[in-house]
Amino acid sequence: MKNVIKNVVKIIVNAGFPQRCRGCGEVGNFLCDCCKKYISENMKAQRIEAEGVFDRAEFLGFRDEILGEMVEECKYGPTRGLAAEIAKVIYEGYFREASGAILVPMPTSRKHVRERGFDHMDLVCREIERLSGGQVRRVRLLERARDTVQVGASSEVRKKQAKEAVKMNPKYLGGDGQVPRELRRAKAILVDDVWTTGASMVEAGKILKEAGVGSFGDGSLLAVAITKNRPRRKPVLRQGEID
Ligand SMILES: [Zn+2]
Repeated sequence: MKNVIKNVVKIIVNAGFPQRCRGCGEVGNFLCDCCKKYISENMKAQRIEAEGVFDRAEFLGFRDEILGEMVEECKYGPTRGLAAEIAKVIYEGYFREASGAILVPMPTSRKHVRERGFDHMDLVCREIERLSGGQVRRVRLLERARDTVQVGASSEVRKKQAKEAVKMNPKYLGGDGQVPRELRRAKAILVDDVWTTGASMVEAGKILKEAGVGSFGDGSLLAVAITKNRPRRKPVLRQGEID
């Protein structure tokens, strides 16, 4: 409840002031045209190893970059407009090429949705669908099963939580526990905001795969995380140096 009040106050306060570009600080929008272009044009999908669950897993940028900071702000704040802005940038930089694919948003915990009033990944996917003129479709194949929030949890706890976090949306399941043929033949892309340990996306991928998503004919199952932590480098100690 405290969070809800905090967010409402923030929305009212924000409404009276113009936004600043998250990249360069220019007054006007969440992102100025120049920064938007810069991020889209420099976006390069990079592979993530994903334990054989996905045909391919990729991320679009590091968490400490402008896009990563925007994702973070969108994830923990009430700034709904930011989701649309993120969608624009990743549509230009990546999803424009994904014509014909279906996007499966990773469902956000109900607690988060309650606090902020929206599911940011659903919003991002919906906006991509709109920008693509329906060439890329958002299909909510997954829903939240249990309300576990994994911020700060250890790797083991995360794995356990991830297993119980999402389930198939029964709306799309036939009596055989499989999705309709159209979805089995699809190029399905599971979309999430951040790849941390990958536990939640991998578990969600297993659930989609079990239901047959992207498993038939030319179908495929991909994972795209908007951002990922930068790999930590081990400190190099030269001879004679003391840590
Ligand atoms: Zn800018």
